This record gives sequence, C-alpha cells and structure tokens, in this order.
Amino acid sequence: MSELGLLSAAQAAEKIRAGEVSADELWTFYRERAAADDLNAYLWVADEPDAGDGPLAGVPVAVKDLFCVEGVPSYAASRVLEGYKPPYTATSVRKLRAAGAPVLGKTNMDEFAMGSSNENSGFGPVENPWDRERVPGGSSGGSAAAVAAGSAPWAIGTDTGGSIRQPAALCGIVGLKPTYGAVSRYGMIAFASSLDQCGPLTRDVTDAALLFRHMVGKDPCDSTSLEFPEEVALPTAERLDGVRFGVPPELTGEGIEDAVKAVFEEALAKIEDLGGELEEVALPHSPHAIAAYYLIAPAEASANLSRYDGVRFGTRATDEDLLSMYEETRAAGFGAEVKRRIMLGTYALSAGYYEAYYGRAQRVRTKIADDFRDAFSKVDLIVTPTSPTVAFKLGERTDDPWAMYLADACTVPMPLAGIPAISIPGGLADGLPVGIQLAGPAFSENRILDAAYALEQAIGFEGGPWRDG
Ligand code: GLN
Repeated sequence: MSELGLLSAAQAAEKIRAGEVSADELWTFYRERAAADDLNAYLWVADEPDAGDGPLAGVPVAVKDLFCVEGVPSYAASRVLEGYKPPYTATSVRKLRAAGAPVLGKTNMDEFAMGSSNENSGFGPVENPWDRERVPGGSSGGSAAAVAAGSAPWAIGTDTGGSIRQPAALCGIVGLKPTYGAVSRYGMIAFASSLDQCGPLTRDVTDAALLFRHMVGKDPCDSTSLEFPEEVALPTAERLDGVRFGVPPELTGEGIEDAVKAVFEEALAKIEDLGGELEEVALPHSPHAIAAYYLIAPAEASANLSRYDGVRFGTRATDEDLLSMYEETRAAGFGAEVKRRIMLGTYALSAGYYEAYYGRAQRVRTKIADDFRDAFSKVDLIVTPTSPTVAFKLGERTDDPWAMYLADACTVPMPLAGIPAISIPGGLADGLPVGIQLAGPAFSENRILDAAYALEQAIGFEGGPWRDG
C-alpha cells in the first residue's frame, strides 16, 4: 500500500492544505482503486473530480447510490430506477462538494436501503473485504466495504434501522447515525422518511467528526431538518472520567453471540479503565423495536415507492396500456424484499387494520423513545454491541427474512427514537470485526464522538484490509 492509502481522510486533507500532497495525486490514487474494486462495492465511478476548494480539500468521498447526484446514475440499487439520472444533487452531497470533497463514485447497497447484508441489491451482492465469503452488512454495504478495503478514504451512507452502524461494525470501520434532522434528507431516495438519516462511514472517529461537520445544518428543502445547536468539534478526549455509561440488559444479553459478548466485555473494562462509570439501565420496550420497525418502515416505504410506476423515473416495462405499464414495471423492477415490504406496508395501512398494526406500532415507538428519555436522566450515553453477530456468510440468511431482520436488533431502537449513535471497531472475534455502539440524547454527537474517540485510542484497533493494500 502506498503512503497515500495509509493516510486517514483528515490527515490527507491536512497534507493537501500544507502542499505536501496534491489533490490530483490523491484523486488519481483513489479513482484507480475504486475503478479496480472487485468486491462489487461500486456501481459507478467518476472520471473527474467535481468539487471546488475548501477545508476538505480534494479528499474524495464515496456516496451510497441512493443520493441523487445531478447527471449521475442514481438508482438506489434498484432495477426499477435503471437509467435514471437526477436533475439535481442531494443537499448533503452538495455541501460536501462545497467543502472541497469530490464524489468518487456511487456505492452498492440493498435495494432502496432494505436489507442488512447487501444481498438485496438489484446489482448483485458486495463481498466483505475481511472474508470474501461473507456479507459486508447492509444496507450501506458498498460504502462500508469500500472504506474497509481502501478504495475510498471515506464514504456516506444512510441509516433507517441500522444501515450505517451495522455494515460499519461488520467491516471494522466507524459509522455515525446522526440525530434525526441533523442532516438534510433532500435528494436522498426515500425509504422510510420518519427514520432515514444520512451520515459518515470512516476509518476512524476523527474522520467521522470531520465529515459530519460538513454535512449538518438546516435546509429549506427539508422541513424536518434542524440547525445543529453547536459547532461539530473534532474529538480530543483522552479520558472518560465522570461519564456515565448505561448498559441495557435488553440489548446486551440474549441473542448476542458469545464471541461478540467477549469483545463487548473488554470494551466495558476499557471504559472503566478510562474513568467512565458503568451502570445498568433498563430499555424495557426495546425488545419490541424490530416488530414496530417492520410495520412502520414498510408502511412508509409502501407510500414512498408508489411513485415508481413507469411514468416518471427509470424503467418502463411496457407501453401497452396504463394498468399493464404500472403492473409490469413494478413486477419487473422491484426485487423480492421490496415487494414483501410494499405488501406488508400496504396491509398495515389499510382501513380495517390501521389501528391494530400501524397505530399500535406508533405507540410502541413512543414507548421506546420514553425509555431512552428515562435512561438519559440517569446516564450520559448507552453502550451496546452494534450487531449480535460478526459478518455472516453470503447466502446464509437469504431464505429467512426474520433471521435477517434480527441483525438490526441492537440498532433499530435508536432511529425509532430519533437519537444519534456511533459504531466503532471493538476488536476481532475469530478474525472478524466486532462493533461497539454508543448512543446518546438528540444532538449529543459531540459527546458521543469524544467518548468514542477516547475508547478508540484505548482499544487501538489496527484497521482493516485497507492497510494491506
Ligand atoms: N436492515 C434494516 C432494514 O432492512 C435497516 C435498513 C436501513 O437502515 N436502511 O430495513
């Protein structure tokens, strides 16, 4: 691996500013690596850098395929959108470009962000660079694999129920899901609008803070976005003295595999070594999070995806007559998981069942948010494993949606409550990375990043395949 590939994104930006590395040189290095990617992590790679000057100074960023980029194929990895080139660019991407970061390419993902393994992509699965027979996680699997393999210095993805944190965990990198509203959703192809949030996937916590800093802010094009109440700081904490960490038994016990538990226990010991205090806190409704999520997210998806009918975007299966056009376009364009969710969501929203399913799930969602509020009256942050297991084998769960859904058991409660959470590498179990998750109250990203940074230094994770070139 050349010197360039060993630099973190923040270090690369620094060197470009100091004139020690040229933006062209860095672009060429990553553009070649992205073009040579053999993990199926990329669906499209840019030819030329497209950003101006700025604090991120020529450090290219890989972008999940569901971010609209003007004139660039943006399919959310769905065949139904094949051929679609948006006439505008997502606010988050526009902001990163304005800060100097050019778009390196579009990364593979589960179709419309529905999945935990990247096997639901309309363009084939992504391989995990730690073990090519295993999944990289999902739905931001391409972004995570690209960063872990060193074909991108950093990337952005989206998280609706875990899609930034879970692939980050399975690929041994850092993933931050921000507070709902902290980053504009404008130009993100919608899955479940009350949950979707974009954020960084990076090699380390400092890079996550730096990328996040240039994404936040209120956007007139997204009425649910909010001004971030403080400056996003680069983390510096070395100790955790006085920081209270809640350990919820509901998300740290049953269902977590032993090897993951062992790495998690080590992380807890490190937190105590650094002066942090551990305390058990209850999140009594979190065991119902998956059930509530799989009503709310499909319900919203069924409405959001009704627009793909052959009229306005992407493919059209037939011109014969209107009804056949709708039916055949949707039958041919959507994959099995997307169809499953449209049916589930349509059913849950139907007049006779709305109260029994959707209404009830919304009440559970409120209870989950209340649990977190109670917990944060006692502790500053909550710590759990990010994923119950390490990366599983390709094909292992494709015939069992329920087993697949459980991959997000530890990550789904946070987006239901709208709160931020980060995953950082905690170590290896049988040679595969294990993620540690830290969550905090809305807009506590600075506290989360600081604590994650202190813990990251103590863990001293060596980094992944990107080190070996
Ligand atoms: N795996 C979850 C799902 O399939 C979460 C996906 C996401 O966060 N986009 O819905």
